[in-house]
Order: sequence, then structure tokens, then C-alpha cells
Amino acid sequence: MIGFDIDGVLADFVTPFLLLLERRAGRGPIKPDAYADPNFSDHPFLSKEIVSECLSDISDDPNFWQALAPIPSRHQWRSLDRLSREGRLVFLTHRWQRDTYDINQITCSWLEKHGVSNPVVHVTQEKKSLLIQKLDVKLFVDDRHENCEDVATQTDALVMMPHRPYNRSLNHPKVRRIQDLDEFFVYLTSR
Ligand SMILES: [Mg+2]
Repeated sequence: MIGFDIDGVLADFVTPFLLLLERRAGRGPIKPDAYADPNFSDHPFLSKEIVSECLSDISDDPNFWQALAPIPSRHQWRSLDRLSREGRLVFLTHRWQRDTYDINQITCSWLEKHGVSNPVVHVTQEKKSLLIQKLDVKLFVDDRHENCEDVATQTDALVMMPHRPYNRSLNHPKVRRIQDLDEFFVYLTSR
């Protein structure tokens, strides 16, 4: 079983989120590497309040998630669809749940729009390593260094982390940094 994170791996979350923060702060630019700390602590002009308000706003807004731009190429989406059809792919996300709409359903339809038929999505606020163990995931892809470190430390899954400006600081012997998703597909076919 293969586990994929969505935001920052398949969906460009960071670009619109940073734009929203800039609008709320009334200034910019915010460099993508500032997102190394998801709370933006010690940022020169982002306060804790601005960050939590923006997080809360996007969580209230299904349109934010529907409008996210896809990161993979069409070819990569087709390969993901194949894995999903074979029942080998699950999606794991820390997106927040709200009573006003169904984030699981929004996430599924976004994945379907980009070509993954019948996606299996797990929305959780717990550590991802718990789900990785429960679902017996052996290969996990995530862009956040905290999640990669958690899964690498707590499970025996192989962890791949797509290179991003905000995760360059993590060096973990069990986390494989990849420059492009193609490296993930090359690894799969080599086994
Ligand atoms: Mg992510």
C-alpha cells in the first residue's frame, strides 16, 4: 500500500496560502522557505493571529480547496490513477474538518477532477504514522518534514519527501528526498 499526502505534494497549497497571508498582513512578499515553520514564528511581519485567522478562513472555505492547482503532470496523474484502481493508493491529509461542508468529499472530487477515479482519502488530525500503521502503508510521500520524520521514526514505511524550499533543512537517514515525482514512479517500477 502507498500513502500520499495531498497539500504540497499533489496540490499547490503554498502559493495561494502565502498570497492570503500577504493580503491579510497588508505586505509581502513572504518567501516560501518561511513556511519551514507552519506557525511562521519569529517571522518579521506575520503575527500568530494573522496565521491562525488565515488557517481558519481557508478551513471554512470549500472553494479554497477546490481551486488548488495540481502539481503532477498529466502523465503522473495517469500513473496515480492506475495505482488507485489497483487498490494500492490511499491519500492522507491533515486538512481540517468543518460541520459546514464535507472536506473528504471536496478532496475526493478534486482528485477525481485531475484523473484519479474512486480515490480513498483519510482526513486525520492525528499523527500520520498512526494511519500508516493501521493501513499497512509501505511507501509514503509527504512534503512536511514533521510528517516525514514522524513516519520514518515510528513505522517501517519508506518515506519520500519531494524537495521544497520549506523542507530543505530536514536530513533524516530514512527519508529519501526526491526532486520530482518521477523518482517515485521509477522506484516503483524498479521493484
Ligand atoms: Mg503536505
